[in-house]
Amino acid sequence: MSAFKVSVVVPSFNEEGNVSILAEKLVKILKQYADYEVIYVNDASTDKTLEKLKELHRKNPKIKYLSFSRNFGHQYALKAGIDYATGNCIISMDADLQHPVELIPELISRWQKGNNIVYTVRKESKNQGWLKRKTSNLFYKVMRFMTGVNVPQGAADFRLIDEKVAEVIRNTSEKILFLRGYITWMGFRQEAVEYIPAKRFSGKSSYTLKKMIALAITGITSFGIMPLRLASLLGILVTFLGLIYGIYVLYMKLWGTAYIVTGWASLLITILLLGGCQLFIMGILGEYIGLIFIETKKRPNYIIEEKVNFDD
Ligand code: UDP
Ligand code: MG
Repeated sequence: MSAFKVSVVVPSFNEEGNVSILAEKLVKILKQYADYEVIYVNDASTDKTLEKLKELHRKNPKIKYLSFSRNFGHQYALKAGIDYATGNCIISMDADLQHPVELIPELISRWQKGNNIVYTVRKESKNQGWLKRKTSNLFYKVMRFMTGVNVPQGAADFRLIDEKVAEVIRNTSEKILFLRGYITWMGFRQEAVEYIPAKRFSGKSSYTLKKMIALAITGITSFGIMPLRLASLLGILVTFLGLIYGIYVLYMKLWGTAYIVTGWASLLITILLLGGCQLFIMGILGEYIGLIFIETKKRPNYIIEEKVNFDD
């Protein structure tokens, strides 16, 4: 592989303070390669991000941008960037400079050694808040258990993929996308590179607790039917316990010595527990019906309002 083109995809939501500095750092590193492009995906920012992107593009046409009609979320911004990228390898990274630009040559050289996917794993660092680290660890544990897909601990959406992998992602029709899991699940030759995340340069994280929980539920339910299976197991367990208790009750009724009208507490506990159990399982069923509903509607993953400097 002699001359190749590098694409860098950067989802950006309210990153006015970051996009210019990131672009400057990126260009410094990318200009050593034969050709490159930087694709910013503006996820309907409400600040001056889009203006900044326009300005960057005016100065350097290799910096392109797509702009969404509304906020579709990080995963879809990534998908859009990959869909439109034309490089031989595509690197995705965050706009907030938490992902070190300096790692790019390393990612590229690992790709040149024959890997299809070079993903990054963040080392624990005080640059991330305590809560973020803990919730993130828990997330990966639950994720691995529930999906059976071995999503590496601390894998972020900072990675390099080659054309083959990009083509698979472009052709996926899944509406509910959890790229981290999807890419692990895909196979190919994958290799990890470690890095220490920096502090967010400017602005604040838009991954609120609510968004993280939503991502976790999506990650788990979009991958397989483990929660449904657990629900069935729970059902079997409860039935079994009920059977034992039923035998006891029957025995007391038929051969019990004392006639005692107790049972208020046990009755109430049984009703409450079973009621809760049933609602919980119905909730899980509901999640899956919701997924089927969303997939069958076949709505687009994202809507682009404006794209600049893309030929097709
Ligand atoms: N992002 C996005 N759409 C959103 C939220 C975030 O495109 O709705 C982008 C954001 O601009 C950043 C990346 O996704 O480039 C990661 O977001 P953030 O830094 O807020 O998350 P954290 O690093 O705290 O997990
Ligand atoms: Mg960040």
